[in-house]
Amino acid sequence: MTNKPIYLDNHATTPLDPHVLEIMMPYLTTEFGNPASKSHVFGWSAEKAVNKAREQVAKSLKAHPKEIVFTSGATESNNMALKGIARCLKNKGNHIVSSSIEHNAVFDSLNALVKEGFEVTYLNPDKEGLITVEDVKNVVKPNTILLSFMAANNEIGTLNPIKEIGSFAKKAGIIFHCDAVQGFGRIPFDVENIDVDLVSISGHKIYGPKGVGALYVKNSVQKHMCALIHGGGHERGMRSGTLNVAGIVGLGAACELVVKNEKKEQEHALKLRTLLHKKLDSALEHVCVNGSIEQRVPGNLNVSFAFVDGEDLMLAINNKVAVSASSACTSASMKASHVLKNLGVRADLVLAAIRFGIGRFNTEDEINQVADLIIDEVSRLRNLSPTWSKVKDQKFNIIQ
Ligand SMILES: *Cc1c(COP(=O)(O)O)cnc(C)c1O
Repeated sequence: MTNKPIYLDNHATTPLDPHVLEIMMPYLTTEFGNPASKSHVFGWSAEKAVNKAREQVAKSLKAHPKEIVFTSGATESNNMALKGIARCLKNKGNHIVSSSIEHNAVFDSLNALVKEGFEVTYLNPDKEGLITVEDVKNVVKPNTILLSFMAANNEIGTLNPIKEIGSFAKKAGIIFHCDAVQGFGRIPFDVENIDVDLVSISGHKIYGPKGVGALYVKNSVQKHMCALIHGGGHERGMRSGTLNVAGIVGLGAACELVVKNEKKEQEHALKLRTLLHKKLDSALEHVCVNGSIEQRVPGNLNVSFAFVDGEDLMLAINNKVAVSASSACTSASMKASHVLKNLGVRADLVLAAIRFGIGRFNTEDEINQVADLIIDEVSRLRNLSPTWSKVKDQKFNIIQ
């Protein structure tokens, strides 16, 4: 092992791609103009850079540049999509449908809307982490104004049937928002193929900078979007505030890279994920995968090592490898994963869950090192566990 820990937490954030940094550098130094300054070359140069980035982001989603709103990240994009549309359409209806395993940026925005008088139905996925378009159809009512479903889950990597939900939403005339932060760049995702009205993406989940994201707002839906942030009327009045030029330039470059390398990167992640899973599964008993293994983004492996507390395992390895335990730290609030609980995963296995997030810069050598380390540590921790010795002696399979 080298001294530097191996980074396998690419759902939490991804490293900035050196190529992206290079493209951003001038906008952090010499090209410091405000794109809203129309009267001199400093402003023009910044505006040109923002326009280019807007085209890059639009192209990567197969959208029109006028449909891209730059934000401070996907938390803001999600807030804007949900509150901006719901508040604007409240005279039309007050019912929203989403799922119980959304990211907190969706979940908490919806809870805030409930306090304003909206009614939200949260669909529970099956034990594989999946929902179906039938589930959605069953709960939609005449006063449903908005659907919000993530493309891929940030903990277990499972995929929603976004295309089917989109077709249904379009037919039913209901606005459809998708938090695509974990899907965009990891699975094919574009607005030509998918009928979707609002899409949230984030720079730092696709090897771009932190603190920048975008919301795709379909042209025909823009008239139903009430701004959350008022001011100088930037972003067609939908989101005021001086643009984060360097961040936006970085987001544009990151989007271009992600689309250019899409296939190669997906194959790379899948190969490494399969390697990791196979090694762990063949060396250890009772390795339970959380969520469907087929219907998930290629770089995600979320597993519970039964009889080993995820926190203990993480503490044992965290100077050598960066992963995350579902029992904590999935958000700043240190609470047990609502995702695994809502899947119906048994409480002890929720606490035993570890999320591996494989990304662009991981290597086969790293995966081999991590697998060996995990195998050693899980075996060591299990040998310390009184429950494990009983289970092992009786050859008693308590995992259903
Ligand atoms: C990270 C993440 C967000 C929040 O994005 P930020 O840019 O960090 O605010 C939203 N949704 C999902 C699914 C995420 O993984």
